[in-house]
Amino acid sequence: MTEFNPAAWRAFSDAIGSQWVLTTETDRQSYFDHFAQDESLHAPAGAVAPANAEEVRAIVRIANQYRVPLWPISRGKNFGYGGSAPVMQGSVVLDMTRMKAIEVDRENGTVLVEPGVGFFDLYDHLQENDIPLWLSVPGNSWGSVAGNALDRGVGYTSYGDHAAQICGVEVVLPDGDLVRTGMGAMAGSPAWNLHHHGFGPSWDGMFCQSNFGIVTKLGLWLMPEPGAVAGYDFEFDQPDDLGWAIDTLMPLRKSGLIRQAPSIGNWLRSAAVMTRREEWTSNRGPLDESVVTAIRERFHIGWWSVQVRFYGDEEVVDASMRVLDRAFDNKPILSKLPARWKRGDPPEGSPMTGVPVSFPLANSNWHGGRGGHVGYSPVLPPSGDLAMDQFRRTYALYEKYGMDYHASFAMGERSLTNVNQLLYNKDDADMMGRVDGMFRELVADAKAHGYGEYRTHIDYMDLVAESFDFNDHALRRLNVKVKDALDPNGILAPGKSGIWPRGERP
Ligand code: ADP
Repeated sequence: MTEFNPAAWRAFSDAIGSQWVLTTETDRQSYFDHFAQDESLHAPAGAVAPANAEEVRAIVRIANQYRVPLWPISRGKNFGYGGSAPVMQGSVVLDMTRMKAIEVDRENGTVLVEPGVGFFDLYDHLQENDIPLWLSVPGNSWGSVAGNALDRGVGYTSYGDHAAQICGVEVVLPDGDLVRTGMGAMAGSPAWNLHHHGFGPSWDGMFCQSNFGIVTKLGLWLMPEPGAVAGYDFEFDQPDDLGWAIDTLMPLRKSGLIRQAPSIGNWLRSAAVMTRREEWTSNRGPLDESVVTAIRERFHIGWWSVQVRFYGDEEVVDASMRVLDRAFDNKPILSKLPARWKRGDPPEGSPMTGVPVSFPLANSNWHGGRGGHVGYSPVLPPSGDLAMDQFRRTYALYEKYGMDYHASFAMGERSLTNVNQLLYNKDDADMMGRVDGMFRELVADAKAHGYGEYRTHIDYMDLVAESFDFNDHALRRLNVKVKDALDPNGILAPGKSGIWPRGERP
């Protein structure tokens, strides 16, 4: 990448108006990743905030002319994975928060959103217009509908695999061309967001976790408001309950009876959003069992907890509940709290019923100070034994590095995603000195078992990409062939997912 040319800022100002070219120190800092171990490593040069796809195209043309690296964000709330900060220091953040158009197809249950549409925006839009469609929201719903789906974020309902709900995108390519995928490739197609494929290759997936294009519109399927929702919040008493609980739920998941991804999380996942460590102990070392027990008793939580929900017509939901009851008959659960919502009831206020929330962000207060966390999330086969083995090995690494174990196992239809959060206090130098070594050891441990991460923080994109090594990294060769063909000047998100342009490759 050639040195940053100040003439580029002027050209951006001419194209989109100087008030949308953000270059002061305060502007710059507002795009830092405040959860990062070292924020300076990913400090952007500034940001540009276009109002529409035509302005995005103009920015891309200027970026090519002056060889300016752009880092597209939708709302930039990707906390734990980099927030709004770029992999490459000195990139210009392409902030699309001003692009907030929402087009709902009420009859067919789809929405076409621009990148700046947040979960709260879309929820309000559906409520205000009395549209009986439900969202699937991530735990921290501050972010954008499009950015979250593009980074393969997940939610709690049966539409929780957000990338899988994408149906048709509009993309500005690194050369400034504007493309619509799927049926949208036909001008005026009414089926753009209704049918997953078009004619010939399907490209939607190519723009997820990649740096091949800037998505300016994204089609997404929404859940028609169900007649009822029912399920249980299960609590389990012992660490070893993880294995049989997974083996009990997985057959119902594979058969399609359970259509959301139940996520079994340990006690700290529940506790860290409700309390802080210093309320229970002043000991900075490993948590005493008595402390864990006291916290669990106060908040009535198991060592593990899982929420299971059925969505649909009431008769079907009731029948599903009977199958679930049978599956857990005689199983040593600690408690099960029934949950029930019926059409006509007020909204339940929970992500399980598609209501956006932001309280899970509170977990960054667990240690006090300037809190943060980094996510480590390998994918394994859906077996209780393998989950127990993964739990024991990673638990030992948390102990070795003196960190508090915070993890969950989310049940996909054929896989388990072991989402870990390494919670930390950035003002605790001793603790921060341990995080990087621990993270690298966790990735190496997963790799040794053939498990790869589903998503990672911008600090670790090269490390994780390196672990996908079949046939001497054939996937990386494919990625860079595509990168070089589409983005010969290497202007778009250099380093995203370990994909670097020619001349920048580590
Ligand atoms: P959210 O605000 O929902 O948390 P972000 O805007 O932080 O989502 O986006 C998550 C990641 O997805 C970003 O780091 C970026 O790499 C990618 N991304 C987001 N929006 C787009 C987009 N419109 N086009 C291409 N990539 C995007």
